[in-house]
Amino acid sequence: MYKTIFGPVPSRRLGMSLGIDLTPHKTCSFDCIYCECGATTNLTNIRKNFVDSALVKNELLIFFEKNINNLPEILTFSGSGEPTLAKNLGEIINFCKKNFALPVCVLTNSSLINLEDVQTDLINADIVIPSLDAVSQDIFEKIDRPHNSIKIENIINGLINFRKKFKGKLYIEIVILKNINDSIDELKKISEIVDKIQPTAVQLNTAVRPGTIADIQPLSFEELSLIAKLFNIRAQIVSTFKANTNINLQSAALTELLNRRYCNLNDLLKLLDLNNEQDLQFFLKQNNIAYQTKIQSSEKFYKIQK
Ligand code: SF4
Repeated sequence: MYKTIFGPVPSRRLGMSLGIDLTPHKTCSFDCIYCECGATTNLTNIRKNFVDSALVKNELLIFFEKNINNLPEILTFSGSGEPTLAKNLGEIINFCKKNFALPVCVLTNSSLINLEDVQTDLINADIVIPSLDAVSQDIFEKIDRPHNSIKIENIINGLINFRKKFKGKLYIEIVILKNINDSIDELKKISEIVDKIQPTAVQLNTAVRPGTIADIQPLSFEELSLIAKLFNIRAQIVSTFKANTNINLQSAALTELLNRRYCNLNDLLKLLDLNNEQDLQFFLKQNNIAYQTKIQSSEKFYKIQK
């Protein structure tokens, strides 16, 4: 089993994506209330190498050699922590660009985007998706629960500055939760800041999987559609994933996926081409995958039993 790559997994935005995870579970500069990876156990703002670059490169080379006829659509730096905390992020992005003919995407919480070295690391990616859940410090702290050194003002300035240099696609992701960051006042302020950043588009999201606190409330598609109208920049609603069903998720890849996050029952059935939940449970049992389930907003989710 690989240590630093996982999948290919279905991404709701990017299609079938091979994940590259450069931080150990759960090392992050935020502890978002909606985080589907669980509570942050190492809340840090210090950049360092968490995994050896040689190990990551070797795993990627082995994966591409073994899956030459079954390649993913994109390489995505994400996983169970914040990718920009990894000091070798730029080195690995450049390695991917040089060796594999696939687009490279980085999902980041934006916390370190004001740092020159982080901007340099991200510059050769094809797509960067930074989060901006709030622009007021109090709301930012409520939803993202950042390391106490992190100020939203620095993030905003960092995003404006990075956009001026970055030639790839930049999608600002905003996770909106009921009664947390969904006031018209805050959303209008976010929209004004987005105008200053000038991203390719805005991606509106909500809590589609269980988070770290029990009572988070997602927004409906209709509510997100109304919010989309507040933005001058094109706003997309991130909903169900677009999976390439030609790629079969092997048992090891499924274990890696479920180890990192909760997965919706319907997504799993689609992904494994199964008819019902009974078949899924049989499949998991056959493959010795011990799981736990959780219900949120009347939907059922599966994850590896810890
Ligand atoms: S959602 Fe992302 S940024 Fe927030 S705690 Fe989880 S891994 Fe960190």
